[in-house]
Amino acid sequence: MQIEKDKVVTVHYVVSEPGGEVLEDSHKDQPMAYLHGHHGMMQALEDALLGKGVGDKISKAVENAYGVREEGQVQRVSINHIIREGKAKPKLKPGMMVQLNTQHGPRPATVVKVGLKAVDVDTNHPYAGKTLQFDVEVLKVRDATLEEISHGHAHGDGGVHH
Ligand code: ZN
Repeated sequence: MQIEKDKVVTVHYVVSEPGGEVLEDSHKDQPMAYLHGHHGMMQALEDALLGKGVGDKISKAVENAYGVREEGQVQRVSINHIIREGKAKPKLKPGMMVQLNTQHGPRPATVVKVGLKAVDVDTNHPYAGKTLQFDVEVLKVRDATLEEISHGHAHGDGGVHH
């Protein structure tokens, strides 16, 4: 069965900086399932996966995979709003990735400058502006159920549970 619109596709994927560090690897967790043709996956990867089948692998570099790095995303927050887990709270340093405690829940940020009571953080996604390498292996392809198509996402293993 080939990958096309309204197929549920199960994949293993590895995201890395080209020629560099691995940022995410689904082999450490479980494969991911997505519904093809419903924006459940990055468009560049859906395009590359179209027509592929079980056992096929694609390898693709995607520019600005996590969005463009925007200027003006640096803001000053109280040091208390930075979540530091564990007893040995690491000393904040520029370049460190942290989680901010916001009213919408934790949000990733990168420390720019550290003061006594306030910290300047950059709230761009840590990978924003980067070209990332995606290596995707197709494990399974099946027809989506009508319910999945109406929801616009995959259900079951590796998909949405609700
Ligand atoms: Zn659903």
